[in-house]
Amino acid sequence: MKESKQEKTAGEYFVEQEKNNRKTKKDFCPVARKCGGCDYAGVPYAEQKKKKEQKVKDLLSSICPVRSIVGADDPFYYRNKVHWAFGHMGPHLIAGRYEEGSHWIIENDTCLLEDKECSKILLDIKNLAVKFKIQPFDERTRRGLLRRALIRKGMATKEVMVVLVLASPVFPGKKGFIKQLTEKHPSITTILININTRTDSMILGGKTITEFGRGFIWDELLGVRFKISPESFYQINHDQTEKLYSLANEAADLKKGEKVLDAYCGIGTIGLCSASKTEGVLLTGVELNRAAVKDARENAKENGMEKARFIAADATEYMKEASAKNETYDVVFLDPPRSGTTPEFICACETLCPQRIVYVSCDPTTLARDLKEFKKHGYDPQYAVPVDMFPLTQHVETVVLMTKR
Ligand code: SAH
Repeated sequence: MKESKQEKTAGEYFVEQEKNNRKTKKDFCPVARKCGGCDYAGVPYAEQKKKKEQKVKDLLSSICPVRSIVGADDPFYYRNKVHWAFGHMGPHLIAGRYEEGSHWIIENDTCLLEDKECSKILLDIKNLAVKFKIQPFDERTRRGLLRRALIRKGMATKEVMVVLVLASPVFPGKKGFIKQLTEKHPSITTILININTRTDSMILGGKTITEFGRGFIWDELLGVRFKISPESFYQINHDQTEKLYSLANEAADLKKGEKVLDAYCGIGTIGLCSASKTEGVLLTGVELNRAAVKDARENAKENGMEKARFIAADATEYMKEASAKNETYDVVFLDPPRSGTTPEFICACETLCPQRIVYVSCDPTTLARDLKEFKKHGYDPQYAVPVDMFPLTQHVETVVLMTKR
């Protein structure tokens, strides 16, 4: 993590913070109060972990034993996906994160959550936008061109993707802009332009054009390679994701030739990481996002798991159809969004009859609700492990193993 003599490593910064007992948000980061990205700004890391573990215990300990939280080795600069919005202050172009609950842009060159290289590239995009006289998009008048810039980085491969989100495909000086950006940052392996004419706050619009490189990046988790497209979901904290997936894999305890379902599979990461460790696993993944399903299929091929199949569908609809056809599985992974899964999904599990279900959750409240429902359908939660995927924020991930009664 050490980058230069002048620059402190995250660990050193952290130690200094704790030593000086700078407990106010402002001391922690000059824009912490406005930005709102770090709920636990100024809270010592040991205390953050304790708070999160307690949150999971409060919600789950009446359901199953809750193990100690798996913390991060370094709680700073972990985000591998970073985006800034562009706007103007009088005649000046500004770029940064939105203030919490508003669309006011806060300028701050470094952020304690963002990978440092990603922040540097964003700063250079801003400087180049000024140099090339690119007009920032104005949400009020809907004039201007540059809306956002999104960076994704493969932490294992060091490949970097840049997505420039524009209000129109007409980008004067595009070639020169791309040339100068890639010369300054040779780690950029691909640049895409996304056209977003939407009026809501979605970052990406419907159309994406590859301007440089392959249009995607590769990364690696637990020795398995993953193709990541701009639109696909990919966990934002690489090191903690490896710990999370190892826990999921350990809970699933896959045996040779077992039939495995990875529901809400994204680009296939959980299923492929687990299946790659056991011979002859028959893997099916289900995911709503078509771009992610396309990536998942290619990921299976890239890692020599041609037999894995990935289905673009709503997970509940798939479960209902599979149970109507009397299909069965030995193991089911599910990793739904914060809203959790549905009663119909849980009900269908009874027919699909897996011996083990591994629930990876990013919201312990909906997890507790769903576990109670699983219990009604014959699945007993054995244990839960909280994982700190998002240090400095209040969010906590949890892995739960359930077995068939
Ligand atoms: N397991 C993956 C993705 C988890 S995020 C990983 O660890 O990377 C949750 C995923 O569920 C997202 O990819 C999202 O697109 C997908 N999703 C959301 N609603 C869904 C639904 N109703 N049916 C299937 N997939 C859904």
